[in-house]
Amino acid sequence: MTKTETYRNYIGGRWVASATRRRFENRNPADTRDLIGRFQDSDERDVKAAVDAAAEAYKSWRLVPGPQRGEILYRLGRILTERKEEFARDMTREMGKVLKETRGDVQEAIDMAFLMGGEGRRLHGATTPSELPNKFAMAVRSPIGVCGFITPWNFPMAIPAWKSTAALICGNTVVIKPATDTPLSVINFAKALEEAGLPPGVFNVVTGSGSRVGMPLIKDPRVRVISFTGSTSVGKTINQACAPDFKHVHLEMGGKNPIIVMDDANLELAVDGAIWGAFGTSGQRCTASSRLIVHKKVAKKFTEMVAERAKALKVGDGLDPRVEMGPSVNESQMETVLEYVAIGRNEGATLAAGGYRLKGKAHANGWFVAPTVFADCHPKMRTSQEEIFGPVTSIIPVRSFDEAIEVANDIDYGLSSSIFTQDVNRAFTAMRDLETGLFYVNIPTIGAETHLPFGGNKQTGNGHREAGLAGLDVFSEWKSIYVDFSGKIQKAQIDVPAGQAGAPAGRPRKPRKR
Ligand code: NAP
Ligand code: MG
Repeated sequence: MTKTETYRNYIGGRWVASATRRRFENRNPADTRDLIGRFQDSDERDVKAAVDAAAEAYKSWRLVPGPQRGEILYRLGRILTERKEEFARDMTREMGKVLKETRGDVQEAIDMAFLMGGEGRRLHGATTPSELPNKFAMAVRSPIGVCGFITPWNFPMAIPAWKSTAALICGNTVVIKPATDTPLSVINFAKALEEAGLPPGVFNVVTGSGSRVGMPLIKDPRVRVISFTGSTSVGKTINQACAPDFKHVHLEMGGKNPIIVMDDANLELAVDGAIWGAFGTSGQRCTASSRLIVHKKVAKKFTEMVAERAKALKVGDGLDPRVEMGPSVNESQMETVLEYVAIGRNEGATLAAGGYRLKGKAHANGWFVAPTVFADCHPKMRTSQEEIFGPVTSIIPVRSFDEAIEVANDIDYGLSSSIFTQDVNRAFTAMRDLETGLFYVNIPTIGAETHLPFGGNKQTGNGHREAGLAGLDVFSEWKSIYVDFSGKIQKAQIDVPAGQAGAPAGRPRKPRKR
């Protein structure tokens, strides 16, 4: 028996125990007998220490030249590449998704490290002519200060990496509170940053609960940016908590993402897409394809095909390479899924596949739900409207393309949408008319790439994007700079040159000779 490791907070470049002396356990949701480690059950004292360290480190980190910050991120990318397999295995153990997907999660962190590393030599601003002679004008990105991150368990390294790499390259410092279900992946990320040579205090990790660690982090007046990914209900609380101090707040929240399947679609392809979109990460993705809006002409055939494929999926421990879908992340998430199955049945949806907890020998010690397909759903059913965050998808039949668009948009969220069709006109119309932050043609609602903006509309987000270069906007402020070398006090908008719109009426007066 190997001894179970106890992991510590990372504050000011040191691995330290919490002031509380309390710890919590992290267990494998595929087999809860597997104890992954003990983590610090921190409180506001640890948050204060971490913000102290981040505020102190900010004084020098903001002055480190961008290309040097970029070199550290390049080293981070190389270290993550070397450890990819080890970190992916840790992640599968702590949150359950299959190895192929946890490798993808680490890969996103690698891609972000190189993308943002390159920004160290760009971080482009704007130079532009001044409206006045002998005057120079430009706009540059400036760092903001200490950034607080609160992250979820479903992309335990990718999401922290989206936020951190963008914040760090801009010259900010970071305090992160990982989800209680997945602290190890953030500890692994911090170790990689430490080894990459990030100075002490620039990146700090405090593990513990949302209320005892998350809230004090949000409320510390020295934390100027809060970036949160998680549920819409917690996002709303965070938004309100940030308002009194006018904090920058960036929120990435829930989704209820539709795939539209038109009558001219390649059905095999659409079924493949629906299975991957609905059951990847056991449906625990903000971009999961949880609504399948299908033209009536093909709905019956499509339902049969999807149900057959769902029933055949191999569910189990994600470390087994034959397994296609893992467990729910914890018992309460599994209970929520099963409650929604009951709700769907009561509302009159037809259960075409799944709808129960798996209890065979391979599943006895984990939180496994069979891949579940509801057919003949009405768009207004709760199961068609609310985010379930589990392996459940609802097939909603529609009579026309226009009705498909209407149903797709009739929802509180606006993260990701997709259409399967061979008709380019319909594809472009859907692209224009769907209220969505991400749009896919002939692929499901998952599969974003790191160099494009990521985020959603309506109750999914609050108008920001992360990843891509758009992510830099969350972590920098524009500073507009004017340098006047005329030797005079020239007045913008007042010294309007003759001939320009808005100049004094009449013939331009010649300057008087002295
Ligand atoms: P969650 O319950 O909202 O938790 C997210 C994070 O917030 C966790 O670190 C959690 O800590 C913390 N937290 C909870 N209550 C808090 C409070 N009162 N104050 C401060 N922090 C608090 O969400 P989740 O169940 O982990 O993740 C699933 C949700 O995330 C889904 O709704 C999904 O759609 C969304 N998501 C969105 C995106 C996106 O980019 N749009 C990406 C991934 C996931 P504890 O873990 O300690 O509770
Ligand atoms: Mg766990």
